[in-house]
Amino acid sequence: MSIAPFLKHTTAESLPREALTVNPAKTCQPVGAMYAALGVHRCLPHSHGSQGCCAYHRSALTRHYKDPVMAATSSFTEGASVFGGQSNLLQAISTEFELYDPEIIAVHTTCLSETIGDDIPQIIGKAEAEGKIPSGRYVIHASTPSYVGSHVTGYASMTRAFVDYFAESTGRRGDRLSVISGWVEPSDMAELKRMLGAMDIDYILLPDTSGVLDAPLTGRYQMFPDGGTRLDDIRTMGDSFAAIGIGRFGAGPAAKLLDTKCKVPMHMADLPIGLSATDRFIDLVRKVAKAPVPDSIARERGRLVDMMADMHQYTHGRTVALAGDPDQLVPLAEFLTDMDMKVKYVVTGTPGKGFEAALADAIGPAEEGDFRGAPSDLFALHQRLKAAPTDLLFANTYGKYIARDEDIPFVRFGFPIFDRVGHADFPCVGYRGAMRILEKALSVLMDRIDRDAPLEKLELIM
Ligand code: SF4
Repeated sequence: MSIAPFLKHTTAESLPREALTVNPAKTCQPVGAMYAALGVHRCLPHSHGSQGCCAYHRSALTRHYKDPVMAATSSFTEGASVFGGQSNLLQAISTEFELYDPEIIAVHTTCLSETIGDDIPQIIGKAEAEGKIPSGRYVIHASTPSYVGSHVTGYASMTRAFVDYFAESTGRRGDRLSVISGWVEPSDMAELKRMLGAMDIDYILLPDTSGVLDAPLTGRYQMFPDGGTRLDDIRTMGDSFAAIGIGRFGAGPAAKLLDTKCKVPMHMADLPIGLSATDRFIDLVRKVAKAPVPDSIARERGRLVDMMADMHQYTHGRTVALAGDPDQLVPLAEFLTDMDMKVKYVVTGTPGKGFEAALADAIGPAEEGDFRGAPSDLFALHQRLKAAPTDLLFANTYGKYIARDEDIPFVRFGFPIFDRVGHADFPCVGYRGAMRILEKALSVLMDRIDRDAPLEKLELIM
């Protein structure tokens, strides 16, 4: 009998299923668009749809980051739902500039406004023509209906919109490197900046939620915290000597557009999660920016390799199941494979081409009994775990019910994490981030050994 009542119908037998998602391994596009918009300084995310959508998106981010997330909404009621939300959005644009004074309003759509067919560029043009957008202020948009894609594609679309609206080429190549990041935590963005700083590189990071969703408690409310990519920097991205996009799903569309629109040579890389992916990232930056790798970075790598070697006996041969977002899953699976673990099941809710091929490149082809669901859902993953459990599960907070049901050591990883802290503060990228991932995995694996050991075998020193 299942411990979590809503999982009691999960069977070990997996039947073919196409038109139904159960317990999705994703959330909706506007959540990602909102997160990306928060990574630009003085940018107010605006949800063009009903209040309920906006409340859900804000609360998903607020619960994950434990910080209040500000966003505005077109507040559709019956009238707007039937006749369209133009007048709501026009009114909202005036009110938001008057009350909150953002530099940019970043409008994303929802299922409702997309179904009605609201033409956001036309509405923005009308707002401009009617003088509702003050001089030096901007309204941009991304199309994010949630009956397609996921929070990852919403993030990618809004990041692309910043490049689309603002990046300009003056025809002169500057000396700054543009780094466009896939969805990672504020702590990861801070770590990316620290590594680039250690390599003495002049960079622009887009978006940058560090200093926004990990802002300190000062006792003073700041509508727009100090962090976020500056608008002037986004403009000058068009003159960068090169761009590196990290995370094909989250950063690819913006990086490609910067290349085609401004002819900035684009290089794609995996998110630097784990040893091998971080090696490739550092090496790419070294080559593209012609920057030597400092001893401090080499020492960090050495400490990670030391930890991997020290603890290899606890990871070797362990089987793992992963659920999450494609940009994270590929390098994470690779890192765990580097630790001689066997990645058996991998599930993402984000649709898109290339995930399975990238995974096969990173960890080899699927073997008998493996499951790679792209897109798939947590129900399918649970079925596989019921039929043949793994030694370890990585997933967001929703994975905890499955972990408890099947009694599997569990590491919270990805978005959302509603029931723990630390993800906004301690990075998972880079060599130091890899040490944190390893520490978390080892903690639950070794807790399991301690828990299951007969008293005479309960070791003080492991
Ligand atoms: S799935 Fe669509 S209707 Fe539901 S919260 Fe997301 S945008 Fe709104």
